[in-house]
Amino acid sequence: MAAGKVYLIGAGPGDPGLLTRKAERILGRADVVLYDALMDRSILSLVRTGAELIPVGKRGGKPSPKQKEINELLIRKARAGRIVARLKGGDPFVLGRGAEEALALVRKGVRIELVPGVTSAIAAPTYAGIPLTHRDFASSFSVITGQEDPAKTESGINWKALASGKGTLVFLMGMANLDKITGSLARAGLSPRTPVGIVENGTYPFQRTVTGDLRDISRRVRKAGIKPPAVIIVGEVVRLREEMNWFEKKPLFGKKIVITRAREQASALAETLQASGAWTLEFPTIEILGPRRNTGLDRAIGKISDFDWLVLTSPNGVRGLIGRMLDLDRDLRDLKGVKIAVIGPATREELGWWGIKAEVMPGKYYSSELPRAMGGKNIRGKRILLARSEQADPDLPRVLRAAGGLVTDVICYRTARAKRVDPEVKKAVTRGDFDGITFTSSSTVINFLGIMGKAKARLLLKGKLVAAIGEVTARALKENKIRAGIVARKPTIPDLAEAIIGYYKRK
Ligand code: SAH
Repeated sequence: MAAGKVYLIGAGPGDPGLLTRKAERILGRADVVLYDALMDRSILSLVRTGAELIPVGKRGGKPSPKQKEINELLIRKARAGRIVARLKGGDPFVLGRGAEEALALVRKGVRIELVPGVTSAIAAPTYAGIPLTHRDFASSFSVITGQEDPAKTESGINWKALASGKGTLVFLMGMANLDKITGSLARAGLSPRTPVGIVENGTYPFQRTVTGDLRDISRRVRKAGIKPPAVIIVGEVVRLREEMNWFEKKPLFGKKIVITRAREQASALAETLQASGAWTLEFPTIEILGPRRNTGLDRAIGKISDFDWLVLTSPNGVRGLIGRMLDLDRDLRDLKGVKIAVIGPATREELGWWGIKAEVMPGKYYSSELPRAMGGKNIRGKRILLARSEQADPDLPRVLRAAGGLVTDVICYRTARAKRVDPEVKKAVTRGDFDGITFTSSSTVINFLGIMGKAKARLLLKGKLVAAIGEVTARALKENKIRAGIVARKPTIPDLAEAIIGYYKRK
C-alpha cells in the first residue's frame, strides 16, 4: 500500500480568497479532510467529491480534551495509506496547536508536509485598516496568547517587556481575559491612552471593529457585544484605521443578500455582490433538468441544418441544445448555415464557450424585440427553431409567427422547484434575517413563493430590498402583490448587481 501523508494546512482567517493556491490544490486531491470549527464552508466545497470530511472543531481556544484523539485519527488515516489534509484556521503554527500535532505525527513516523496560512493576527487587523507596522509608529509586532495554559503557575508573558517596547501587540484568544490583559499592560507601565482595536470575525462579511484606549476598551466592547473570535490590537498603529479603513466601507458591507437562482448559476451574481462587500445567502429555488421527453428536440436536431434561424433565449437553452447534440453524437458544424439569434449577452457568452457566434442580439434584451432584430419582414417564410425551457413564454413564438416565420418550438430543458436548500440558509430566511433578495426570473419568484408559502413570503419581503432582473420578473412579483424595489436597467446579472450597489450607495 502507498504510504499515506498528512498535510497540515493553514486555511486562512475566514475570507476564502485568502486560502493559498497550494492549499486549494491539496484539498482537491486529499482522501480525508479534518477541519476546525472556524472554517468558511466554501473552503470545504473545494474538497473533491467522495473524500471523507471530518469536523474536529473546538471553540474559544479551550484546552481540547480531544487533541489526543485528533492526533490518533491523523496517524491512523495516514497509516492506512490516505492522503490526509488537516485544515487549521489561520496559520497552523500561530497559537493553534499545530506544532503539537506535527510533532505527534513525525514521532510516530508519519510523513508530513506543512502549508502556511494567512494568520488572523495579521489579516483581521488588515481588514480593519490597521497596519501592524508603520515607520513612524511601530517597527515590530508581537503575537501573544490571551489565554495562557491554566496549568502554568507563573505567567509566561513578560508584561514589562511588552509594555516597554514600542511594538504593536496582537492578542489572540483574549476576549474572556480582556480586562486582565489591559490591566496587566497598564500596571506594567503602558500609557492608559494607548489605542486599542478589537476585530471580531475578521475578514468575514460580518466583521465588526471597535476601537478605544487601554482604559475604556472593555466598556466599549461590552456595549457593542463583541464576542470571540476576535483579535485585540494594542498600539499607536490603531489610529491609522481612521484613514485606512476600507473593508467595512464597501457599499454592500454587512448587507445580507439572498440569491434565489439555481446553484449552477448563482456564482456570477454572488461573486459580484461579495466583491462589493455583501454577505450572500444562496437559496436556490430552481433546479435545471433535461426535458421530460426528448422526441421533439431530437427530431429538430435531426434536421438542424434545414433551419434558417436558431433562437436561444438563455444559457441553459444553449447547454440543453448543444448537450443533446453531443449526446446524439452530432457535430456542431451542423449549425454552420443556421443563423443564430440570442436575447442577451449571457446567452451569447455561453455560445462563445462552444466557439459559436450569434448573428443577432436585440438592443433591448426582451424577446418581443427579436423579430425586428432578426430583420423584420425578412423572416416571412423562414424556418425558425426555438429551443427553450418547458415553462417558456408563449409570446415569442406568437410574435415570430405573426411576422410570418415558420416556427418550431422545442423544449431543451426545464426548471423544477429545487429540492435541496441549505437548512441554515432556510432558517435565516424564515427568520427574516436578510436585507435584500434577488429574483432573476419569473420561476425564481414562483418557486420562492412555493417553498416559503405565499402569505409568509409576502410578510417576509416587507421592508426588504426586493431586486428584480427585469420587467418580466417584476411583473411576476407584482402579480403576487410584491413590489420590486429595484429593477435592473437591462435584464442582465451585471446590471442587476449594479442596481443593488447603486441603491445602497444612494442610501
Ligand atoms: N492559528 C490561528 C489562531 C488560532 S487561536 C491563526 O493563525 O489565525 C484562535 C484565535 O484566533 C481566536 O480566539 C481569535 O483570537 C483568533 N481568530 C481566528 N480567526 C479569527 C477571525 N476571523 N477574526 C478574528 N480573530 C480570529
